[in-house]
Amino acid sequence: MTEKSAQLEGLQQKLAAALDWYRLAGVDCAVLPAARNRYAEEETRRKTAAPASRTAAPSGLKGDQDQGATTAGAPPRLAPEGPRPPLPRQHRPAAQDLTLKSNESALADARHLAAAAKNVGALKQALEEFEGCALKKTALNLVFADGNPEAKVMFIGEGPGAEEDRRGLPFVGVSGQLLDRMLATIGLDRQSAYISNILFWRPPGNRTPTMSEIAVCLPFVERHIELVDPEILVFIGGISAKTLLGRSEGILRLRGNWRHYQHPGMARPVPALSTLHPAYLLRQPAQKRLAWRDLLSLRAVLDGAQPEFKSG
Ligand code: URA
Repeated sequence: MTEKSAQLEGLQQKLAAALDWYRLAGVDCAVLPAARNRYAEEETRRKTAAPASRTAAPSGLKGDQDQGATTAGAPPRLAPEGPRPPLPRQHRPAAQDLTLKSNESALADARHLAAAAKNVGALKQALEEFEGCALKKTALNLVFADGNPEAKVMFIGEGPGAEEDRRGLPFVGVSGQLLDRMLATIGLDRQSAYISNILFWRPPGNRTPTMSEIAVCLPFVERHIELVDPEILVFIGGISAKTLLGRSEGILRLRGNWRHYQHPGMARPVPALSTLHPAYLLRQPAQKRLAWRDLLSLRAVLDGAQPEFKSG
């Protein structure tokens, strides 16, 4: 083996070890184009926030600021072994940075913030300020809504994917392009429809959202529906349909059915149609015929037909 190929092999081994370290630490996708050193950010924040005399590391914590320093490709060094004394109050990062609020208090915050929002703009602002959803930590952007809030029909999908996360808009990736084509077949577009999601931040790696992530976003979704007050709702995909209808059947059973959607803050029930998610249709194109039926049903109701409500 030449010296060069030995060097290359050594480098490959180091890279493989770094990736393995990330995998073991639970990293399942890259959310930013470059590594972000949150330890260094925290240190800078602490230095600028506290007077110089109070920023020295407490004894026993020497090297605290660089113990986890990350550089691109190199895993953070592990903390020195042995128990660590608690950080004095002034050295503790803000509670929000350390751990997420407990589910219960996050839910209470979500309800309070959502209820206080008096219009759609204020609701978006409340979500910008909300720190109770774990997804916000890894997302690039809040994905709130697109389209016309004055439209007759409001569509609610599942949650943002990578492209939506980058652009801060719902349904702008590949499945969004299919959704646009589907809407166009019945004469709808983003001027005549309003589009949002059950989740306002992208689940890392597009994983399925957890129950608590859905639950903590729900007060905002419900308030969103109240404020927009659409004539018709369309739930896109199983997560949206099951969550908002409170049902356990799969989307293939729920789709095509009109049901009343109502929650306590709403003055009246709204006719809601569930349909298949465009991401599913991209994987199962033969099912587009079912989605087409749903679209025709939606068009008919938009044109004034009475929805045939499914009971039970
Ligand atoms: N899928 C969704 O459910 N929502 C989006 O915004 C994008 C993809």
